[in-house]
Amino acid sequence: MSELPSSAKIVIVGGGIVGCSVAYHLGKMGLTEVLLLDRGKLTCGSTWHAAGLVGQLRTSANITQLLGYSVELYDRLERETGLATGWKRNGGLRLACNPERWTEVKRQATTATSFGLEMHLLSAKEAQDLWPLMQVDDVVGAAFLPTDGQASPSDVAMSLAKGARQNGVTIAEGVKLTGIEVENGRVRAVVTDGGRIACDKLVICAGQWSREIGRMAGVNIPLVSVQHQYLITDTIGGVTSSLPTLRDPDRLIYWKEEVGGLVMGGYEPNPKPWAVDRLPDNFESQLLEDDLEHFEPLLELAAGRVPAMQSAGIKQFINGPESFTPDGNFILGEAPDVRGVFVGAGFNAFGIAAGGGAGMVLAEWVAKGEPPYDLWPVDIRRFGRNHLDSGWVRTRTLEAYAKHYTMAWPFEEYRSGRPLRRSPLYARLKAEGACFGEKLGWERPNWFADLASGEKAEDIYSYERQNWFAAVGREHKAARERVAVFDQTSFAKFLLVGRDVEQALSWIAANDVAKPPGHLIYTQMLNERGGIECDLTVGRLSPGEYYIVTGTGFATHDFDWISRSIPAGLDARLIDVTSAYAVLSVMGPRSREVLQGLTGHDLSNAGFPFGRVKRVTIAGAPMLALRVTYVGELGFELHVPTEFAASLYDALMAEGRKHGTANAGYRAIESLRLEKGYRAWGAEIGPDHSPLVAGLAWAVKLRSNTPFQGRAALEAQVAKPLPRLLAGFTTDPSIVLLGRETIYRDGKRVGWLTTGGFGYTVNRSIGYGYVRDPESGVDRAKVLSGCYELEVATDRVPAKVFLDPLYDPTMSRIKS
Ligand SMILES: Cc1cc2nc3c(=O)[nH]c(=O)nc-3n(C[C@H](O)[C@H](O)[C@H](O)COP(=O)(O)OP(=O)(O)OC[C@H]3O[C@@H](n4cnc5c(N)ncnc54)[C@H](O)[C@@H]3O)c2cc1C
Repeated sequence: MSELPSSAKIVIVGGGIVGCSVAYHLGKMGLTEVLLLDRGKLTCGSTWHAAGLVGQLRTSANITQLLGYSVELYDRLERETGLATGWKRNGGLRLACNPERWTEVKRQATTATSFGLEMHLLSAKEAQDLWPLMQVDDVVGAAFLPTDGQASPSDVAMSLAKGARQNGVTIAEGVKLTGIEVENGRVRAVVTDGGRIACDKLVICAGQWSREIGRMAGVNIPLVSVQHQYLITDTIGGVTSSLPTLRDPDRLIYWKEEVGGLVMGGYEPNPKPWAVDRLPDNFESQLLEDDLEHFEPLLELAAGRVPAMQSAGIKQFINGPESFTPDGNFILGEAPDVRGVFVGAGFNAFGIAAGGGAGMVLAEWVAKGEPPYDLWPVDIRRFGRNHLDSGWVRTRTLEAYAKHYTMAWPFEEYRSGRPLRRSPLYARLKAEGACFGEKLGWERPNWFADLASGEKAEDIYSYERQNWFAAVGREHKAARERVAVFDQTSFAKFLLVGRDVEQALSWIAANDVAKPPGHLIYTQMLNERGGIECDLTVGRLSPGEYYIVTGTGFATHDFDWISRSIPAGLDARLIDVTSAYAVLSVMGPRSREVLQGLTGHDLSNAGFPFGRVKRVTIAGAPMLALRVTYVGELGFELHVPTEFAASLYDALMAEGRKHGTANAGYRAIESLRLEKGYRAWGAEIGPDHSPLVAGLAWAVKLRSNTPFQGRAALEAQVAKPLPRLLAGFTTDPSIVLLGRETIYRDGKRVGWLTTGGFGYTVNRSIGYGYVRDPESGVDRAKVLSGCYELEVATDRVPAKVFLDPLYDPTMSRIKS
């Protein structure tokens, strides 16, 4: 403690694998004055008692890449630092014991192909040849990932710490952070039991203690502690040091070799939280009491797979607490609440696998202010108001823990902690047959069951067309041929107000927003790489006021992006008005007739053209009406003060009856927008994709001289061939496209689907994905000239490519 400096540029709190990895990578980048603190010894939190399995495949390409980087790093770390890591690239086996799991595994194999990760499908016998101790009577097949492996967690962390020290990072053990000083929304210093340390940046890598530490600065880190158990057997004959790791998800269990014996752990369906009220002080290098009763069912399942376990002696039980999160993904990035506070926590029992990569990307984020690539699935800004409550976070997290190995069904919804955020129409829509999904705590109608004919408002999951397929088809048809009403109250809505809003938003938005009041503009907001950070609609309400509407899930992210992008010195303030307005979207060729029957305002094309926002009253309710559509039909979004929503809905449905108006949900929106080719942020577009590669150049003011964020990067891209281009694909309607299917052009792998779905009007399965050719570039002609196939669950099927919308009502055109 005597060496503790009074200031550092970057302070990292937490000396587990993640903090050590951040320190290592900051050191490698040549950053000076980096200080890592741990209140105990390095690795004394969760790291020292981890089992050490390292798997790589995830549903996101970038997170798979991040985990792949861990493997690359662990391959070389020992050589570099001279400290052993216990890393062995023995490969990983994953079993499938029923036909549905086999479909899941085959879809995972295709995902691996898409992402360039080696993965082989094996017969039960071939799997047994790799893992002779297991019985395979019930095994349908298996997957083998040869580059997966296992490591000794403490050794990896210590090796990273040594590498960090070698590059000038200071590591102080036995120093406890007790407070954080924040001034004008920025971190200024940390307070420790060894004194105050002024700092520019703080990186919270304190595992399950991160939530409490975040609170010291007003930063919300939604994670909770859950008990996780495994056992280590005595040596077992036939267990070799080259044995691959083994996962048997149908039995909820994993194994790995450990000094001639086996480590065996799993994910109980009834997980137990730890330290519900508060984390005990000084819980260092400790374990929790064994909970054999809780573990027993897993043990029985394990013995069924590996009979040798029945007679093997048990060397040790480990019950360790670990931080888990409500969606099973870890948490990275700069906190939206306080500038300069970064988080790397909540590793859901895969912090050893993720540690190397997470440390690398977080170090870049800290050093450069931006991550090296899109990390949305793990970005701290994916959370929202529902995640402020620890009780809610715990309830949802326990559900996510229990689902760790269960089937990951397409379209699966969480069940716990619901309903939480409800639109004023919730009860009405429920009575009308709504089957709700949940996003950021909001209940949102996914589809409507026909209660009169006995249909149940309940999802039945499968890898085939699911039970709601026909219902969504009905809603789709209503929107295309008559009128559909969508409750989109959960949209995030902001007001940007102030004297300089036009100047500020013109800088932040890629499209021209310097329009007179009454105009509505679809725009992207770009990062310095020209990547799309936000994709939203902006309405000019008055010279000093813009109304901004964005997706439900992007509330925190987009608010953060816009507010931090406002140039210094300008008078422009962003206010979240999400709760002030309910939103009813009235869409379809007869939507105008329905609305005109309820208002004296002129809603004709001349009186209310496309791309306009107006203050009107409809059925007695004052509102902002937006002439916009995400479904490719004539339509109006009605943003109405919440207390008027129910009366407006009742009036719409009564007036709409004679026009065949139907309720419709989010799954119909998805199908409709796929036909019309509208992009979705987080799927086809995101921080790694510029408007040029996404086919959105028409929405960028490159021809004007106005400077805007990301302009320089776009100009550089325009000058060169594009490395990839977003394209659409259709297949036979019997093929179920879900996303991540591999795209082959003229027999060569060129990308994967970012989205898969179905278009009821064109009667085709539809997918979107980037056609890549970084070497010679991609343009429209090249995309359209190829002959395409998609790999779906390891089978190749023919596909047709398209670039222009499949469906466009204004041109009365349907292409298939
Ligand atoms: C039983 C079990 C088995 C597991 N098996 C695997 C596996 O097979 N593969 C895998 O990838 N992952 C596994 N994990 C998960 C893995 O252990 C964790 O994800 C990982 O160790 C998290 O590392 P961390 O650096 O985030 O946190 P930690 O290792 O918990 O480090 C946090 C550090 O912060 C320090 N700290 C806390 N508060 C303060 C403060 N106020 N001031 C200063 N320092 C502070 C603590 O002392 C601690 O050292 C397992 C976990 C458990 C419990």
